[in-house]
Amino acid sequence: MMLASRVQGETKVDPKTALRMLNAQQQQFEKTVVQVTDNVYTAVGFHGANTSMIVGKDGVIIVDTLRGPSSAARALEAMRKYSDQPVKAIIYTHSHGDHIGGANAMVGETMPDIYATESFGSAEGVNEAVNPVKRKRNIRQFGRKLSPLEMTNRGVAPAGTADNDGGKGFLQPTVKVPKEGLKTTIAGVELEFHVAPGETDDAMFIWLPNKKVLFAGDNFYSSFPNLYAIRGTAYRNVLKWSESVGKMAALEPEFLVPGHTMPILDQDLAVAALTDYSEAIRSVYDQTVRGINAGKSPDLIAHEVRLPDHLKDKPYLIEFYGSVPHAVRAIYSGLLGWFDGNPTTLSPLHPRKEAEKMAQLAGGTQRLTEQMESALAAEEFQWALELSDHLKWLDDADKKLARKVKIEALRGLAGREYNAPNRNYYLSYANELESGALSEIWF
Ligand SMILES: [Zn+2]
Repeated sequence: MMLASRVQGETKVDPKTALRMLNAQQQQFEKTVVQVTDNVYTAVGFHGANTSMIVGKDGVIIVDTLRGPSSAARALEAMRKYSDQPVKAIIYTHSHGDHIGGANAMVGETMPDIYATESFGSAEGVNEAVNPVKRKRNIRQFGRKLSPLEMTNRGVAPAGTADNDGGKGFLQPTVKVPKEGLKTTIAGVELEFHVAPGETDDAMFIWLPNKKVLFAGDNFYSSFPNLYAIRGTAYRNVLKWSESVGKMAALEPEFLVPGHTMPILDQDLAVAALTDYSEAIRSVYDQTVRGINAGKSPDLIAHEVRLPDHLKDKPYLIEFYGSVPHAVRAIYSGLLGWFDGNPTTLSPLHPRKEAEKMAQLAGGTQRLTEQMESALAAEEFQWALELSDHLKWLDDADKKLARKVKIEALRGLAGREYNAPNRNYYLSYANELESGALSEIWF
């Protein structure tokens, strides 16, 4: 992959490169069943996430079940080519919907045991009160309403996943894995469950000691990890995430099966990927903490933190899904809350007041509008957005024009993005503005 035009600390490149990079990443989730090793199969690209089948003596074990029963049934059917034995156990690596919603389509005549950590479900429950807005932001992050022409992919998942039966096949866990983990044998297959907080607090990874296969769940996939999701999430414990990935590396797996994207079927590559991943997360955390203790604001630290040189071009650390600057801000607010320590920000002006002052500085609302238009013409899209946001507060402004500029600037930014959530969010928001679906507050 050509990366020469990437600017460190940015996920924006020229539009052709952005598209080429996202299209190349697509190979990570083309629909296929991968034979990981003898008796282990992973179905990639049947929906957003992966589902796997381990074939034992007198039954099979399923790891993760996709989002809904129809995609789970299709994936199972494809894997059934290799074994028609009954499903003895289902394992949920964590509680995100794209891993648990298809379980009932994988169950035969007898109900299997269903394994999950004892804290299963803790991931999203904490901020249910804000579900109305999370739903909107989720649609934008994943580009769920984008047209096929606008849509590329979701960074670690394909576009166009039909979600109308999402969650309909969910089955409650029946075996709870305690904090210390669990070793057991199912259908003659030895398994170890390791509790491993990361993308969610309720995550675990699964280790097959005899086959040296590791199922990482969403603590590893081929992209810089989503240490923060712009759809809106509670703080993800970044330090524990790094530690959990370090524990996976220490097992020296020969085969690494991620929660999304293609399995890695080479021991050196698998161990290197996990080691680098753990180090990358830790490095972003440490740099952020150093910035915080130096008294810097999240805005400044977000512009300064970089992946170390020896990691920045690793294919599994490119920011197709997670973003380093977003991670910095999440770590900042996760550790200290919203206040950046600068008394200027304790009680800032009302946005309308600030906009009036900006207009005065510019020499009036008309001059501010001209500045916004020339920013757009010069393709200074971010600045055009910021000026249009001021103009929305001014009674004497041409708000229709400001809105139109915002739409165009969002599309301009989107075209340059290879970070899929950013790209999808910009495009979705532009469409919502254009359709008039957004209230004055959102504009
Ligand atoms: Zn997932």
